[in-house]
Amino acid sequence: MEIIILAWATLFGIVIGSFLNVCIYRIPKGLSILFPGSVCTKCNSKISWYDNIPILGYLILRGRCRNCKEKFSVRYIFIEFFTGLITFLFLYYLFFSGSKPLETVIVYILLTYILIVITFIDFDYLIVPNSLTYSGMIFVLVISVLIPGIFEYNNNQLGTQYVSIYYVTRWHSLFNCLIGIIVSGGIVFATAIIGRCILKKDVMGIGDVKLMCMSGGIIGWKLGIIVFFIAPFFGILMAIPVMLKKNTRMIPYAPFLSIAIIVSIFFEDYFLGIVDSYIEMFRYLF
Ligand SMILES: [Zn+2]
Repeated sequence: MEIIILAWATLFGIVIGSFLNVCIYRIPKGLSILFPGSVCTKCNSKISWYDNIPILGYLILRGRCRNCKEKFSVRYIFIEFFTGLITFLFLYYLFFSGSKPLETVIVYILLTYILIVITFIDFDYLIVPNSLTYSGMIFVLVISVLIPGIFEYNNNQLGTQYVSIYYVTRWHSLFNCLIGIIVSGGIVFATAIIGRCILKKDVMGIGDVKLMCMSGGIIGWKLGIIVFFIAPFFGILMAIPVMLKKNTRMIPYAPFLSIAIIVSIFFEDYFLGIVDSYIEMFRYLF
């Protein structure tokens, strides 16, 4: 049974990945993400449903438009595959083999979908769309009230010993969510301000702050701080090839924040242990 659910979820993820491709292409252009259906970006001919089947359609036509033979980027198929994979990993490791309730894991998966869209838009245009971060933030706040304790798993003082969601009030849940938003966004915002004062140029955009606000509401303030510290490592790893290739010094930062956010969720217990031991140390010192 577990295998069947995982297989369907992975397939669902691949289909969603196809939709994320549409979002990545259309949102920065201000186009509707629902209408019209997919068209070839070169000859504008409609892509019929059987050519638009994720991954398969791409493979059958060898990544070309049926009409004008324009080659589609291999990125489309990569995003479809990756979205399926990440859906599988979240469900398998956090829900089936982990200790997270389904509703929490679903929000993690939704967050990852938004992060995938933001990542590639930031790669292409060096922007983080407000429409995504603002609606994400509102969604996070609303869901924290509707399902009290859905994010408590990250915020309790005991680290790996989880608070049952049934013992958390709506106000408490909303409060923790707000703390996550303020701390996670605040730490990046402070860095942006300090960076501008010292280096006299923008080191981080305000879009990155909003991205961290949205995610901080979900992962909580402790993991928000962790993300802040581990994101630069992913940044350094990938910045060098980007700089060599594109000959530019502007580097999108949202992709590295996104990678760090996903990594922090998967290794949550480990990272929370680190934060908690620091808290203990400070308590002991002061
Ligand atoms: Zn075409």
